[in-house]
Amino acid sequence: MSTDINIQSLFDQVTSGDRVALGRAITLVESKNLIHRSQANQLLDLCLLTNSDTFRFAISGAPGAGKSTLIEVLGKCISDAGETLAVLTVDPTSSITGGSILGDKTRMQSLSVNPNVFIRPTAAGNALGGVSDATREAIVLCEAAGYQNICIETVGVGQSEVTARSMTDFLLLLVMPGGGDDLQGIKRGIVELADAIAINKTDGTQRESAITTRQNYMQAAHFFAHKEHGIKTQVVNCSALENSGIDALWALMQEFHSEISKSGFITKQRRKQDVTWLEGKVDLLVRDIIYSNSQLNNLYISLKTEVQEHKLSVSSAYDHLKKEIHSKFEIL
Ligand code: GDP
Repeated sequence: MSTDINIQSLFDQVTSGDRVALGRAITLVESKNLIHRSQANQLLDLCLLTNSDTFRFAISGAPGAGKSTLIEVLGKCISDAGETLAVLTVDPTSSITGGSILGDKTRMQSLSVNPNVFIRPTAAGNALGGVSDATREAIVLCEAAGYQNICIETVGVGQSEVTARSMTDFLLLLVMPGGGDDLQGIKRGIVELADAIAINKTDGTQRESAITTRQNYMQAAHFFAHKEHGIKTQVVNCSALENSGIDALWALMQEFHSEISKSGFITKQRRKQDVTWLEGKVDLLVRDIIYSNSQLNNLYISLKTEVQEHKLSVSSAYDHLKKEIHSKFEIL
């Protein structure tokens, strides 16, 4: 990508609904090039003034749970209702393969030609669980381009649900029949994050099992921690393959959106999410400061070696580094 870009005109193209320009804008925010970074910031600042009366939702679940099949039918349902949808699929393998290992050509085939829908696989970068800063920025760009609904698809690996929830208004967890293991141990925390749980593949020979799975999740949901938005976690059955239960699922998502919009929670939550994002970036800045200063970096490396060789305690190593940083920046 060249660095000779007129940001105002790119912004105008994006807001006029030019999909190619939107694709270029997302490539720009994904770039690590410093000139691109500063251009991306200019573009994102312009987007601050655009419409944000949108619904951001994340869909997560284990590989094979049926996420892309569900998004395909959910997208059709949204489009049939006359609304627009942008789907940002986050492929955790893309930073390794340089492209989607899942073969996006075969995924969401009918949605990709729907004029009301924009689909974009985003590179995961190095972010844990595959949801990176660029995804957060791509959401803002899609909203500036006029998309009313933004869907983030992510593969459940624990941390990715936490990150996906932190950049959206609603998290849908897609599970398969019989997946009750999630209700115990560490995975339970992830299940508790969800605003709704859909037991997919409620069809054929798995129907009975899917109905029992829903009952188990509903029982567990009684004991979930109270959510700040005050809305109880819904558990539903659906079949993406047979397109059953999808209208009801979309209706409950819209109801959720309407309630958090009316109560003002949506704005409050988004502002809080932005501040938390900034805080996370500032934490990383401290690490960058150490890495980019050869003296501090060398000290850090030698302290790590001493800790590794059991010659120095973690607390002493930490204090030593802290003193060095303080003296460098003349902090008392
Ligand atoms: P993803 O990895 O979560 O995106 O899952 P996919 O959407 O690629 O689906 C994985 C497999 O499950 C595919 O073979 C789908 O055809 C199948 N599948 C998806 N949804 C359903 C469903 O509702 N019922 C049944 N029986 N199979 C489904």
